[in-house]
Parts: sequence; C-alpha cells; structure tokens
Amino acid sequence: MEVPTAAAAVEAFVADAATIVGDRHVLVDEDLVASYAVDWTGRWRGTSPAVVRPGSTAEVAAIVGAARRHRVALVPQGGNTGLVGGGVPLAGEVVLSCTRLDEVGEVDELAAQVTAGAGAPLAAVQHRAAAAGLAFGVDLGARGVATIGGMIATNAGGLHVVRHGTMRAQVLGVEAVLGTGDVVSRLRGLVKDNTGYDLAQLLCGSEGTLGVVTAARLRLVPDPAHVTTALLATATVADAVALAAHLRAVVPGIQALELMVGDSLRRVVDHLGTGWPVTADADAYLLVEATGADDPTPTLAAAVDAGPAGGGPVLGVAVATERPDRDRLWALREGHPEAAAALGIVHKLDVTLPVAEVAPFCARVTAVVAERWPDAHLLLYGHVGDGNVHVNVVGPPGDDPAVDDAVLELVVGAGGSISAEHGIGRAKRAWLTRDRSPAEVAAMRAIKRALDPDGILNPNALLPPG
Ligand SMILES: Cc1cc2nc3c(=O)[nH]c(=O)nc-3n(C[C@H](O)[C@H](O)[C@H](O)COP(=O)(O)OP(=O)(O)OC[C@H]3O[C@@H](n4cnc5c(N)ncnc54)[C@H](O)[C@@H]3O)c2cc1C
Repeated sequence: MEVPTAAAAVEAFVADAATIVGDRHVLVDEDLVASYAVDWTGRWRGTSPAVVRPGSTAEVAAIVGAARRHRVALVPQGGNTGLVGGGVPLAGEVVLSCTRLDEVGEVDELAAQVTAGAGAPLAAVQHRAAAAGLAFGVDLGARGVATIGGMIATNAGGLHVVRHGTMRAQVLGVEAVLGTGDVVSRLRGLVKDNTGYDLAQLLCGSEGTLGVVTAARLRLVPDPAHVTTALLATATVADAVALAAHLRAVVPGIQALELMVGDSLRRVVDHLGTGWPVTADADAYLLVEATGADDPTPTLAAAVDAGPAGGGPVLGVAVATERPDRDRLWALREGHPEAAAALGIVHKLDVTLPVAEVAPFCARVTAVVAERWPDAHLLLYGHVGDGNVHVNVVGPPGDDPAVDDAVLELVVGAGGSISAEHGIGRAKRAWLTRDRSPAEVAAMRAIKRALDPDGILNPNALLPPG
C-alpha cells in the first residue's frame, strides 16, 4: 500500500493544495520544511517536498481528496513531539500539519465536556478546563506542544493514567477526514451511544493511518481541591513497585505513580544542577501524587509508614503540597527525557510489563546493555502504576537497531507490550508481528484498506510493509 510520491504528482498536488489553503499555508522552502521533517529526538529525520497547513475540516477533506487524485502520500502531524518516527516524512511524504485547527470551545459545565480542534495544544485544553474549575484527565511533559489530534492518534498516556485512563478514556467523539476523503463527525458528547462501530475509538491509536482527526469532544474531570506530591526513596526497584501497588490499593485519589531508577535520577539531578530533596544513594525512587476534597497528606503518610506486607523500608521522604514545591519534585521526573537527550541520540523504548515483571525486567535490561554496550548510558523510568517503563539508551548510533531489538526481545519474553503509549510509528513496525497475531494484523490491514483505499495516509507507519 505504499504510495510513490512521484515528482510530477507532487508538483500538481502542491498547486491544488495552494488553491485550497492559500499559498502562504503551503510551505516548500527547504529551511521552512526542515523543522517538520525531524522529530524531537533527532533520531528520525526525513525530507518532504511540502508542508500543507489547512485551517478547517473542509480544507483537510479537500487536501485528502487532492492527495487521492494525485496519489501523493501524506503524514498527518500535530506538535511533532511523537517519539517513534510516526509523524515525520521519512519516505518523502507531504506533511499535513494540523496546528491551525487549534480552536478550543467553551466548556460545557453541565456535561463536564469541551470540544477542541485537533491542533490545540494539550496546555490550552488544560487552561480552558481549569478556568471552569475542571481538569483534563491526561497530562504529559510535552503539554505545551503536543496536540489533541496527535494525542488521540497515539492514544497518549502520561502521568495520570492510573487515575483517569489513557486518551481513549477522555474521547467521547471525533470529527475526522478518512482516507477516502469522507468527513465523519460525532461531537455531541453522548456518554451512552451504542449505535454500531465506535469510529472515535478506532481512530484512537491509529497513528494517522486511517483518518485525519480535526476535532474532538473531550471528557473533563473534577479539579481536586488538594494535591500532595511525595518523593520516596527505596532500597530496590522491587520495593518501589511493591510500594506503588500498596499505595494505589489503600490511598483513595492516587493520580500518579512514577518510578525513577537511582542511576537515572542521579544523572537528571546532575543535568539540572539541583539539590537532593531526599537521600542521593537509593537504588530507586517513587514519585507519588494523591488528590482529594480534603488534604490527602495524612492518609498518604500513614500508608507510607505502614508499607506493603514484606516490603523494604522507605529510605527517605520529601513531601510537597504547594504548587512551586510540587513542581520542584516533578522537575526531577520530567527532567528525564531532556537529560537523556543532552547525552546524544536516544534510543527510546516505551514498553509495558506485567507488574510482577517490572523489577526483573529493569535488572535484565541493565545487565544486557552493560554487557553489550558498555559505554552506553541507560536511563530507566516510567509510569510504574501502569507497568510502563521508558528505556532510554544513548550511545549506539541512531540508525543501528540492535539495542532496540535486544530490549524488545526482553519485553516479549517477559509477556509485555512493545509499545505502552508512544505507538508503533516507524520505529517499531518491524516488531508489530511479534506482539500481534497474524489474525490481528490481517484485521488491521483490512480496516486500513477500507478507510484508506489508496494508502495515502501515513503509509509508512504502524503496519509492517507487505
Ligand atoms: C518531553 C516529552 C514527554 C512526553 N511524555 C509522554 C507521556 O508521558 N506519555 C505519552 O503518551 N507520550 C509522551 N510523549 C510523546 C508525545 O508527546 C505523544 O505521543 C503525543 O501524543 C504526540 O502528540 P503530537 O501532537 O506531538 O503528535 P505528532 O508527534 O505530531 O504525531 C504523532 C502521531 O500522530 C499522528 N497525528 C498527529 N496529528 C494527527 C491528527 N490530527 N490526525 C491523525 N493523526 C495525527 C501522526 O501522524 C503521528 O503518527 C512525550 C514527548 C516528549 C517530547
């Protein structure tokens, strides 16, 4: 289903695109196109003949129609913060940038919902929700740039999945242009709506391969009156995992459970140049956040004191309830991607393990990387409440997949998923068949053929070639 982006076809497409969106929204200058063609990590770098920036759903539909006519492949792009090479034109595709679709509607306070354009950054939705005394259920480090459309397309997870679920759980309906050029729109926000296939949910996690999301109806959640953030130091990763499970079980309103392996956090603290709020010598750290109508600190403290049955001691505790202090603790967790990137090109492997496998997996991956790539840097952290570990390896060349293969082999062997929340993109598509059965992949291909019969939407992402 790979579409050849022949030069003459692209030229004719670009001329049509300019009449649809206006000359100034079709970028062809190499310097202007360049920033759309490389991802946040710098590992995934392509080229593109043009970036097209439609300003409405009708314009997106017309652009998809033109792409079909000229058989030109499109890569939908939002904030370009994706980490698996799925939003950049690695095979010379035209970039369909959705950032102009950035309108955020008024909050429907009665329903606790809002409609947002696909190009709206997450932070804009968060601000709109906060102004109405509500919150958005998904939060992640790239909040200032990542867009609602990209987050739907990747089924983004982030920091609060343990409480509110992934992006999938926030989406009540979408407006989208399918690969056929047809517009589907269901933005009424009906919580119960059993009228056949749920196209919005099908588009969640479809990585721009089935349709271009142009808007979404989103669920909002209560904004908690009190939030307590705590950094807990533990003697082992296994202790941190057990403590996380214990806290989730006994503390109501837990909204974040983040693991940081000791050596990784030490690197982040060096990078940020900050001090240590707890002991610097622990093997693992757990960042926990609890919320409530009343101050959750006493309940959280009692639960930490009691600890899980048979669990190791907590070696240090730092607690924060005021925003600036909480932000200082969060900076330690959110500094991880930046600290890794500062070391060089990062091999980012975002995986989920059965919870019981998280600690053994961290030990195994550390041993394998140390043995095979002794000069490499390894940062291990993640959303441990979801069994989600981010493996970051810096050292092996970006175009050498050996370390990716070694890590994913361990994941498959431990019964995990090769992608927790970042998606398959270009980075992991050769691995899809190791995680999904032939029948599942065949069903995905059938859906792709039905909704994108000419294979013009992100044809080089997610599904393996063939
Ligand atoms: C510092 C940092 C922290 C991060 N933390 C997290 C985290 O905690 N959890 C997490 O899940 N992710 C995280 N990410 C990854 C990234 O932010 C998410 O994958 C996010 O959902 C991507 O949104 P985007 O708008 O940047 O999408 P892009 O990168 O532009 O695109 C991502 C994918 O979505 C498709 N796409 C984009 N827009 C549309 C659209 N309108 N319609 C159809 N397809 C579209 C693209 O084709 C591509 O396949 C992080 C990234 C960074 C840089």
